[in-house]
Amino acid sequence: MGIFGSPVKVETYKPGWGRGRALRFVQDAAPVAVRIVEEHYGRSLQPVRITLTTPDGMAELACRAEFALVPQVSAAARAKAEREARELARGAAAQVVLSPRGRGTLLFLNSRSDAMRVDEGIETVLSHELVHCEQFGRRGVRELILAHTRHVFGVKELSPKVVKAFEDMLEGHEAEAYGLEDSLAARLRKAVA
Ligand SMILES: [Zn+2]
Repeated sequence: MGIFGSPVKVETYKPGWGRGRALRFVQDAAPVAVRIVEEHYGRSLQPVRITLTTPDGMAELACRAEFALVPQVSAAARAKAEREARELARGAAAQVVLSPRGRGTLLFLNSRSDAMRVDEGIETVLSHELVHCEQFGRRGVRELILAHTRHVFGVKELSPKVVKAFEDMLEGHEAEAYGLEDSLAARLRKAVA
């Protein structure tokens, strides 16, 4: 197993998250999916904590993490962020945010999303999001995300040039995750079959 096979924690949040099959699948598959991503990149992943929850639970946990990462956010900016997070969560299968613990990520899975059905793409969602977890651990990425979060919350404004650098980075991350998700998911499907 070598340096790969970082521990991963899987939990649920909020009653009504549903889909016990999805939970059992993620509990079994998450450590394997982490190892596959680590083997692909040839390095270990920072700690990942996975939570299966509802869209509102996802929004709540994402905001909680972001407010912990960036204190000094005004009440008005918090309310706006919460509103936007709830809207975003309704259409998203998953979301990755930085862990407020200093390193690593929190991965929220929307158990209500059709993409989260076992046999219908749950492996793809998990693989795609773990690529984001890997990206968030790269040199300079955490700092840029934090700076951008401060900017969005009105705590410290960034120059248009840095905002553009952040957006270009995200675009690159998405392209990379979409490009890899099918092959990683195929390996995962095979490994847990
Ligand atoms: Zn993505």
